Amino acid sequence: MEAGTVDARTPLTAVTGVGSRAVERLGHLGIRTAGDLVRHLPMRHERRLAERTIAETIAATTEDTVNVRLRGEVARVRTRPGPRALIEATLDDGTATARLVWFNAPWMRGKIHPGERGVAEGRARMRQGYLEIGNARWTQEARAGEVAAGVDDLRPIYPASEEIGSAEIEMVVARVLEGVCAGMEDPLPESYRRERDLMPLAAAWRAMHRPADAEELARARRRLAFDELLLLQLGVMMRRAQLRSRTRAVPLPVDAAIDAHIRSRIPFRLTSEQDRVVAEIAADLGQAHAMNRLLQGDVGSGKTAVAAYAMLLAVAHGHQAALVAPTEILAEQHHRVLARMLEGSEVSLRLLTGSTPESDRAACVAGLARGSIHLVVGTHALLEGGVAFRSLAVAVVDEQHRFGVRQRAAIRQKGQGETPLIPHTLVMTATPIPRTLAITLYGDLDLSTLRGKPPGRKPAVTRVVDPGKAPEVYSYLRSRLNRGEQAYVVVPAVEESETGLKDVTSHVRFLSEGPFKGLTIASVHGRMDREEREAQMERFRGGGASVLVATTVIEVGVDVPNATLMVVEHAERFGLAQLHQLRGRIGRGEGASLCVFIGEAATPDATERLAAIASSDNGFDIAESDLRLRGPGEVFGARQSGLAPFRVADLSTDADLLRLARADAQGWIDRDPDLRAAESALLRRKLMALHGQALGLADVG
Ligand code: ADP
Ligand code: MG
Repeated sequence: MEAGTVDARTPLTAVTGVGSRAVERLGHLGIRTAGDLVRHLPMRHERRLAERTIAETIAATTEDTVNVRLRGEVARVRTRPGPRALIEATLDDGTATARLVWFNAPWMRGKIHPGERGVAEGRARMRQGYLEIGNARWTQEARAGEVAAGVDDLRPIYPASEEIGSAEIEMVVARVLEGVCAGMEDPLPESYRRERDLMPLAAAWRAMHRPADAEELARARRRLAFDELLLLQLGVMMRRAQLRSRTRAVPLPVDAAIDAHIRSRIPFRLTSEQDRVVAEIAADLGQAHAMNRLLQGDVGSGKTAVAAYAMLLAVAHGHQAALVAPTEILAEQHHRVLARMLEGSEVSLRLLTGSTPESDRAACVAGLARGSIHLVVGTHALLEGGVAFRSLAVAVVDEQHRFGVRQRAAIRQKGQGETPLIPHTLVMTATPIPRTLAITLYGDLDLSTLRGKPPGRKPAVTRVVDPGKAPEVYSYLRSRLNRGEQAYVVVPAVEESETGLKDVTSHVRFLSEGPFKGLTIASVHGRMDREEREAQMERFRGGGASVLVATTVIEVGVDVPNATLMVVEHAERFGLAQLHQLRGRIGRGEGASLCVFIGEAATPDATERLAAIASSDNGFDIAESDLRLRGPGEVFGARQSGLAPFRVADLSTDADLLRLARADAQGWIDRDPDLRAAESALLRRKLMALHGQALGLADVG
């Protein structure tokens, strides 16, 4: 088959000049058709190196590695088979010789022969008096011309495997690229492309593989990144439009009497920030379509009271509300806070978690179905199939970063008991999301941000110290504990193990026999049963214990205002967001708080994390650093969101492009909410194929 008759669907087996071994090896990379191969984009492009003679190169090279490109004739090839397989070739260009060495490189077997001429490229250094290139890219002279055709000086470097190298992939790409690109239809109308200065789709794909120059490559990237961003934005906006037009919710209007009544239940006066956010939420709740809102606010910013307002509004209208938390400890705490607010009222409140005894659980499930229970707090146990509501009007998901899109969808379904209504949903997170990400990952949500903290808070003083300083830290803490303050001590492990990490059990023993002798120490961890855990938390909360030794189960939400001290052992093992969350447990009362991270920065990443946590206590700054250190997928559960990942777009650098895509997507959906216009047909098909399922888009085309 000639290049001209290849299209995206052509299997590689049907492409002339591609051997069955290459087909098999590409298959292991998930590449089966010509289209798959074209979508296998280079990771980067390398500038072709100027050639120098081997003698010149030797003169310029030391023991440090340098990039080289050498042309010559293969004088000798020696192979050593077996588990430590080795192929060694000597390259001679008449001025001197160089040694080419491949370790464990089965794809090189039979690829280099004595007497043939070619070009070796790679990283070289002087070793035992020889110029040596390890795992060189070898191109026979006969083929070197073929590969270079049409390319100025940028060479694609492909994600390769043990079996097939980048140069070989490049050669196969050369056989299919034209055919695949020629058959591409551009989903963006030409006039639109012109206006936005976007190059045609086929040209962009061609240039991604074989750019004429760096500028063309940049333009190609921009086009493909734009398409990815546009498709996702169209998807989330289409979903939002569909949720609005096709889902009905109970409107929950607020009047002065209801507002005053709800506020009388909240034990403090809301801050102006809380008032602002409550107003945004109340405006949504008054509508007959479901609210779908993300509330972000740093740890300790006071999100719970805002959630309570929304839930009590549902109850005031005779409907039900649910609050879902990611851990039992947090669910228990929310339950206690709400129970205190509702003391002496008619509102019936229950807690439902994995630890709820079967008989209580059955009673709770029945009460929710009947409507005799108005408010429920729980963990994912609430999302299970058996739980149904008579009339769920408000669902709150706390600490959203622990949940994926799917759980959000699960709670939304819970409203569909007797009435075909779906609940208003409020998701809350203390991991502030940089705006670029928020509108990408949660683009179907409206966003509220709670800034600042309730009055009277002093930020915690943070120190990072190495383990040698631990005795001093504990003895200083002791002096403050003697004055009636309380401390959290966080360790990474539950029980003693071979890892040598500090664990709850031994650390309690160590502290009670050593630095904290005579003080009362409570402890909690994830493997404790509920009663024991509640008893321990209660001892600490009530002041019966001055120290709480814990694993990271206390990371989210635990609120004990009198606790002013925290020590985190092995701090280098925790993620940045996690350290910030942990520190958020203190600095909640009036007293001056101190947080000490004991850690040994063994890696550059750990060093950066500890430096970042020490230098800022602002959740937004921390989130930006986290994004930089870990990348967006890791940070915000993009992976578990089920959305197709970007191949080209990069949120940390494409913010401008994202803004453009978002504005255009908005305009598009406003004009044509289901993309039914003829000129949108192709775009719509692509959108459905890529995101239709993950976003639950109804295909009404
Ligand atoms: P988060 O946003 O981390 O969930 P919380 O809702 O737990 O924060 O609030 C943190 C602390 O601040 C709690 O002890 C809460 O009672 C208190 N708080 C919240 N709002 C106010 C307010 N307006 N005035 C006084 N204290 C408040
Ligand atoms: Mg909270």
